[in-house]
Amino acid sequence: MLRSLRSTRRDDAEDDGQNVERGVEGAEGEEEAEEEATRRVGIRDLLRVTQGHRKALFLALALSLVAAAMGLAQPMLATKTINEFSHHRPYLLLTVVLGVVFVVEAIVSACAHYSLERTSEGIVLGLRQRLVGKLLRLPMRRYERHRLGDLLTRTTSDTTLLRDSLAYDLSEVVVGAFVIVGGISMMIWLDASLFLIVLVIVGAIGGLTMLLLAGIRKAVEDAQDSLGAMSAELERALSAIRTVRVMRAEDREQERIGRMARQAYEQNLQAAKRDAVVGPAMTLAMHGSMMAVLVVGGIRVAGGESSLADMVGFLLYITYISAPMANIFDVMATLQKGLAALQRIEAVAQQPGEDDATPAPAPVPAPPAPDAATPAVELRDVGFGYEPGRPVLHDVSFTVPRNTHVALVGPSGAGKSTVFGLLARFHEPDRGQILLDGVDITTGMSREQCRSMMSLVEQNAPVLHGTLRENIAYARPEATDEELRRVITLASLDELVRRLPRGLDTPVGEHGDMLSGGERQRVAIARALLPRPRLLLLDEPTSQLDAANEAALTRTIEQITQECTLLVIAHRPSTIRAADAVVALESGRVVATGTHEEVARLTPVTLPRRDPSEQ
Ligand code: ADP
Repeated sequence: MLRSLRSTRRDDAEDDGQNVERGVEGAEGEEEAEEEATRRVGIRDLLRVTQGHRKALFLALALSLVAAAMGLAQPMLATKTINEFSHHRPYLLLTVVLGVVFVVEAIVSACAHYSLERTSEGIVLGLRQRLVGKLLRLPMRRYERHRLGDLLTRTTSDTTLLRDSLAYDLSEVVVGAFVIVGGISMMIWLDASLFLIVLVIVGAIGGLTMLLLAGIRKAVEDAQDSLGAMSAELERALSAIRTVRVMRAEDREQERIGRMARQAYEQNLQAAKRDAVVGPAMTLAMHGSMMAVLVVGGIRVAGGESSLADMVGFLLYITYISAPMANIFDVMATLQKGLAALQRIEAVAQQPGEDDATPAPAPVPAPPAPDAATPAVELRDVGFGYEPGRPVLHDVSFTVPRNTHVALVGPSGAGKSTVFGLLARFHEPDRGQILLDGVDITTGMSREQCRSMMSLVEQNAPVLHGTLRENIAYARPEATDEELRRVITLASLDELVRRLPRGLDTPVGEHGDMLSGGERQRVAIARALLPRPRLLLLDEPTSQLDAANEAALTRTIEQITQECTLLVIAHRPSTIRAADAVVALESGRVVATGTHEEVARLTPVTLPRRDPSEQ
């Protein structure tokens, strides 16, 4: 635990990275944290996930134990009944008691089973909720490491495996141990020498079975990894389904994804082969023991050395412990599966979230109201790299005055999106300072405060599942119609709302399929403007827009500066010309700033001369 805390701290320090050159040490810390998150989990970790459900679990286990005790009492009652019968004494009451114990055991067993299932579902629900929460809050770079499909598999399939393990294994271990110890005690009490025979047979077969169990966990872990890889590949193919169709790549994709499915199949078969041997091996052991007991016991009963009732009781105890004996090995097999699943769950659940990784400087006072001369955005000698030793931005400095429109231009790969990512605190700068309204975003405000000051419109403007209203009101679901109308007009969407069959309440399809590219962009702008941000970061679409959409976008951009400061990653000469100032980036450095004409003179290659639509 201490080790884990220490390692997380180191990761914090690395993530924190304020004004510190990210060096080799940082990289090591990062790797170690990743390794720590995937350390081998054990039974203790399995027990740890039951926290908060222990009472319910104990109740379920107590019920199972009561049922097991009733089961154990039955052979004894049967022995007594036979004894009474053979000595011509009244046996009716004992028979009734035996019948009642039989029925009550069945009822208590059913209750125990249900409460155990309920508790393990509850544990898995908590785990899933924790995972979903974590998946939405991981530091941005983690999404680049894990593939989405794999993260989804961890939340669904792995948690299901774990639930089975919890529901089945925990009760089997506790109740099974109770029944076995109880049964063995009774058998020794009834006939110690017969028990010795059973011990030798079961011990020999059980020992061999144990050897087979090794390897199940590895096989299941590999199978779940393959399943995760399959989900990731499927997710990738489905998200690009149009390209897949047009390129006629269905067969190839099916082949690739099918390969992962086959890997999971083969690895699961490896586990199943070992798993399959366990049950029959134990049945063999139990049947062998019974035969031996019957033969040896029968001879002794015939010789008058032992009573028939004792032998019947002994045989009944063998049948009673045979199920838990077989299960103990089965349990070990499913336990290995559960541990394999927990391993994959913990690898994500133990990762620090975005805010744990970079703790907000405490205490964080509300940023003071800025005066008119303070720029809305200021970058001072900002340096940043996604990986140590490979800087992407070098000493980037520029300002964006309040309520102006500044265009960020430059060739692809110049670092424009990276600047946006740093402003939104998806990543932290390695060097230099970023100020919003004069306040350092890393040291002077929390992530929450920083993001509440701005809105971001991404280039491929995601439209979420739901109606147009839900999409626009995403940041403020409680927004009034009037507030919605304001941003709809600002984003030139009135025409679209009028045209849609159910207006604002029209569903817009899973990925906004019912909207054109330009409309999607403007829906995203309306969504961004609704919370009245002080700063709007707009990544202009590079794809061609038709004349109507282009004009609407230009009009929207013009109107926005009445509301807020606008920083646009601009590709269209029309947008660049409309800006009050232009900042030109090349290879992560600012190569020119000024008006459009000034920048055009300084960096003739950086600025596009003609509209993409004119080419
Ligand atoms: P632009 O937006 O100007 O096209 P970007 O800011 O996207 O440029 O990229 C700048 C550089 O950073 C490019 O060399 C790109 O390959 C690299 N880069 C961008 N995102 C990542 C990432 N997540 N991990 C590693 N390198 C990245």
